[in-house]
Amino acid sequence: MLENELPNDFNADIFIGITYVPIEDNYYARRLSNNRVVFSYFEMAEIISNKNLPLENLLLRMLYSYSLIYMRYGNRMPLQSENTNFAHDDTRGCIYDMNGIKSDVVYSLDKPIICDECTTKLSEKKFRIIR
Ligand SMILES: [Zn+2]
Repeated sequence: MLENELPNDFNADIFIGITYVPIEDNYYARRLSNNRVVFSYFEMAEIISNKNLPLENLLLRMLYSYSLIYMRYGNRMPLQSENTNFAHDDTRGCIYDMNGIKSDVVYSLDKPIICDECTTKLSEKKFRIIR
């Protein structure tokens, strides 16, 4: 189980693990306890390469979205089991697209946005989005 496989003792605000093997329930990102996150390029590398996008774009997108989540939740990463509402089901090219269909991720890998709804939610938490 990922919870036990990744280091728990690290000198940073967030621990980010990156792998190429499938992770639980075939998600491409999971939040773990103790401010740890894991990303998997399993299937994602092929999806991204097929669109001729750099693989790094997924990492950057995840870093943006998880950094804001961390700050939004008062400098902590909410547990996967917590009832969070930062991701939306529909695909808008936003860094908070849920991407229930993995291949939809390509829409938020090239010049991703923070959509109006997410901007409003972040503003309520005192973030100022500069476009
Ligand atoms: Zn959004």
